[in-house]
Amino acid sequence: MKQGNIGVTTENIFPVIKKFLYSDHEIFIREIVSNAVDATQKLKTLAGKGDFKGEMGELKIRVSIDKDAKTITVSDNGIGMTADEIEKYINQIAFSGANDFLDKYKDEANAIIGHFGLGFYSSFMVSKQVDIITKSYQDAPAVKWSCDGSPSFTLEEVEKAERGTDIVMHIDDDCQEFLEKDKLEGLLRKYCHFLPVPIAFGKKTEWKDGKQVDTDEDNIINNVEPLWAKKPADLKDEDYKEFYRHLFPMADEPLFWIHLNVDYPFNLTGILYFPKIKNNLDVQRNKIQLYCNQVFVTDAVEGIVPEFLTLLHGVIDSPDIPLNVSRSYLQSDANVKKISSYITKKVSDRLASIFKNEREDFEKKWDDIKIFIHYGLLTEEDYFDKAKGYFLLKDTDGKHYTLDEYQTLIKDQQTNKDGQLVYLYANDPDAQYTYIDAAKQKGYNVLLMDGQLDAPLVGLLERKLEKTSFTRVDADVIERLIQKEEKTPQPPLGGEDKLITVFRSQAPKTEKVDFNVEAQALGEDSLPVMMTQSEYMRRMKEMARLQPGMAFYGEMPDMYNIVLNTDSPLIKSVLEDMEANTAEALKPIEAELRGLNARQAVLRQEQDKKKPEEITQEEKDDLKKCGEDIRAEQQKRDDVLKTYAEGNDRVHQLIDLALLQNGLLKGEALTRFVKRSVELIK
Ligand code: ADP
Repeated sequence: MKQGNIGVTTENIFPVIKKFLYSDHEIFIREIVSNAVDATQKLKTLAGKGDFKGEMGELKIRVSIDKDAKTITVSDNGIGMTADEIEKYINQIAFSGANDFLDKYKDEANAIIGHFGLGFYSSFMVSKQVDIITKSYQDAPAVKWSCDGSPSFTLEEVEKAERGTDIVMHIDDDCQEFLEKDKLEGLLRKYCHFLPVPIAFGKKTEWKDGKQVDTDEDNIINNVEPLWAKKPADLKDEDYKEFYRHLFPMADEPLFWIHLNVDYPFNLTGILYFPKIKNNLDVQRNKIQLYCNQVFVTDAVEGIVPEFLTLLHGVIDSPDIPLNVSRSYLQSDANVKKISSYITKKVSDRLASIFKNEREDFEKKWDDIKIFIHYGLLTEEDYFDKAKGYFLLKDTDGKHYTLDEYQTLIKDQQTNKDGQLVYLYANDPDAQYTYIDAAKQKGYNVLLMDGQLDAPLVGLLERKLEKTSFTRVDADVIERLIQKEEKTPQPPLGGEDKLITVFRSQAPKTEKVDFNVEAQALGEDSLPVMMTQSEYMRRMKEMARLQPGMAFYGEMPDMYNIVLNTDSPLIKSVLEDMEANTAEALKPIEAELRGLNARQAVLRQEQDKKKPEEITQEEKDDLKKCGEDIRAEQQKRDDVLKTYAEGNDRVHQLIDLALLQNGLLKGEALTRFVKRSVELIK
């Protein structure tokens, strides 16, 4: 028997490995099984070249647990090792500067293991002793190497009939969980799911005589020929769908997929699926698995895949992604940047080609796809130019348009006096029905923008498209929604002020909503009352909800305009009725007001002639008193109008109808409205 020390310069590396690599303990299985795969592949290569002429047999890796002995064994029938090779590959590991390195990368097991080619030694993260029993394909005696985690090992000749290597890990007391069948099987499926050599973990079981019993058939935990490694030309849609179900058993059928396959300037294969996303963007992330030659590495792909594509599901396999380095390094790596922009381009090309060749299908899926494209536009500045060709707008009739098509469609009708193209949109077609209808009557088109990301998207499109603005269809009365020419001041309408006072006095009073009342001639056929909400204020408030810095806007009340249509026969009739019913009460007040106004004008005129210091206190008091008297009379006038309004069902009914149209009539007010309506139709 030979005894010796492993060529590690650090006194004892194993406690260090254990301590620092704590969080990633489970990857030992990946490392050990990958080595077994490599040894098997090497044998195949040798056989292929004619350097190995013996019987290969069935090449398979076996993983087994011995609960009594507390061991996990990974066996292969690959090339095996001679005593010399053990000496060379296992004993002499270069460990220069190990301490510095460990210090720097304490938290990153992958980095350390990769850097030192420590693959095999990762078994010591979970083992108090590891044995290698191996017989080379070359004519040499089998040997057993054994090490208990100190820098010393033993090496002896043993009997082993079959070619290949058994790695026997004597599991540590604090790592006993790995001896659980389910735990280990879970890890094998996670890390070794697509390794290219069959991996047997025990036997398949079947239900017999009331219990699960082993069958003769090996329980193979991997798929040796994953779909992404095959040629796209050989695959059918059903193959892709089935592979997706295999990867994500709980997910809905994917919308479509992209098979990536490059060998220059880097190697990369993979399949990315567009999943059906329902609501929460976050739960959908991290569904891309990264492989290196079919070995699972991670499913946290930020930095490798552009941010917005992390919403996609699938697999990427590349030996060229530096897997064993730190994340920050990864993100600044030029190769990774190239890969990332390649993937974006591929995804974009695929979308463009589906749009071009199968536009109908693309439109059908648009509602599901748009979230990716919107997200891409919002997070990736360059993406707009790529997506321009297939980005679609959908109108409230369900028709789709590209940006160019839409511009052509609305150019004639929806250009305002400043040459701006005004895109009208609705985000709640049921609630905004009246406004949409009015806009359509006028020959406008209304877009449907009810997606999760439509609000910020509006801002982006306004930035990207020249001379374009978006206005929600209920932002103003239809006549003013798109201003075609300079407004000609309307001829003053007698009693309009009083009418406004009447309605304002009855508008709901709450802290959260401010109502402004105005009178407008909107045409005889338009509704008597409309309610609008300024685009600007609404957007400010929407933004305030998303951005903490804008809380100021968030606290402002919602502002609505109640617009009285002075062309409407009904409003005209309310006005006449008001005049008739208040004339008597208002007559003396108005006479008084006229007198006071005249007096105020005279007083002002007189005082204007004098220099400030010449005006006596008495004169100043006179003017002040006159002002106060005017306000008092105005108040009296308003009170008369208010009293009239309070008892007027039509005023209440009209206000309530406007509120109702905007979903603002609730609770007690709604009940009152219903009761009043019943009274009115009795
Ligand atoms: P790496 O795999 O990165 O080279 P490892 O520490 O995992 O580093 O393994 C060191 C070497 O030991 C391998 O390169 C290989 O030559 C040899 N080896 C490890 N496991 C096996 C095995 N199961 N069969 C044959 N050789 C092996």
